[in-house]
Amino acid sequence: MTVIKPCSTIGILGGGQLGRMISIAGRNMGYRFITLDPTPNSPCGQVADLQITAPYSELKAVRNLADSSDVITYEFENVDSTITSILETTSFVPQGSELLKITQNRILEKSTLKSFHVPVAPFLVIQSENNIETAIDHFGLPYIMKTATGGYDGKGQWVIKSRDDITIAIEAWKKAGMDMIIEQFIPFSKEISVIVARNIHGQTKTFPVAENVHINNILHQSFVPARITDEQRIQAETTALKIADCLQIVGLIAIEMFLTNEGEIIVNELAPRPHNSGHYSMDACITSQFEQHIRAICGLPLGDTTLLSPIIMVNILGQHLSKVLDKIEQLPPTAKLHLYGKKESVENRKMGHINFLGATLEQIDKQIKDLGIWSYGNVD
Ligand code: AMP
Repeated sequence: MTVIKPCSTIGILGGGQLGRMISIAGRNMGYRFITLDPTPNSPCGQVADLQITAPYSELKAVRNLADSSDVITYEFENVDSTITSILETTSFVPQGSELLKITQNRILEKSTLKSFHVPVAPFLVIQSENNIETAIDHFGLPYIMKTATGGYDGKGQWVIKSRDDITIAIEAWKKAGMDMIIEQFIPFSKEISVIVARNIHGQTKTFPVAENVHINNILHQSFVPARITDEQRIQAETTALKIADCLQIVGLIAIEMFLTNEGEIIVNELAPRPHNSGHYSMDACITSQFEQHIRAICGLPLGDTTLLSPIIMVNILGQHLSKVLDKIEQLPPTAKLHLYGKKESVENRKMGHINFLGATLEQIDKQIKDLGIWSYGNVD
């Protein structure tokens, strides 16, 4: 079985912050990095040995990436299948393209999870506008309409709260011209996530469960350890490991879940890569998710994921950056700032995050609130 040893070159499709953090972790281990991204000086390009600046659809550039790399990984899931097949024929792509296909499409993802007997929110695939009207009879109100492909951070999603919203939903469905699903609204008590690593030899390891808070559908904070019972934690980890094994993944898979008011776990979404809700691991675990991803795809033994300290990760969006910089001297000495090198600070764009470590989650939470950077109680 292939082991890609340090000093080899890792090619990353995509030059965003996830690629950047993979590269920083991998450079510490002695790997070299090449990234392909259409925007010059991308977050990953700034720290990689080389950036190939070209659109993902430029096959010559994709071949160039494959020819120059000992192993290829990707940092986003919407990779075109033409590209993955070129990469797979020319280079070593241990993550393969099957998982990408599944996670690119909610219908396939949910059907696959159902076939593994993993609980997901009841859903139906919209075939006609009649489905949108009669969904109330099946799912009650509110219900959620989601595009099958391309949605992220709440984009491509409509919450239908009343009969009046149905007309808007029908219009949106007609205009989108793509497959969509309707999903039952799950009144959850918490959103949690588990990241699992599986290497090419089949060894698996989970990261500690994160408890996630979203604002406007964008991840705002992750609290670790999640404030759930031992039984719920074991159930979340067991479900995550089952998914990783059933899908025979190589690399990382992030599994977002709802914890219902009845204490049941329902899987919402999969991401076949490092995930925002695992950024806490950079400062609070023996092995970060980024190092683990490299270990997994390179066939190295997986690292210890033990949590060393309670931690709250807080995202810095475009609207928060100047406030963070203004208060930089007031950050506690146990706060670890990570910025992604993005030039333009656009509203809701992920610019960085801060990992706040401390003795207890309550103490850290108070520290964050006292800083007054993020407004609570309001929509920021
Ligand atoms: P998604 O794009 O599926 O990850 O959804 C973004 C966010 O919308 C989730 O993190 C939840 O807060 C909310 N959400 C999505 N689907 C549901 C659902 N079926 N029931 C309740 N909330 C949901």
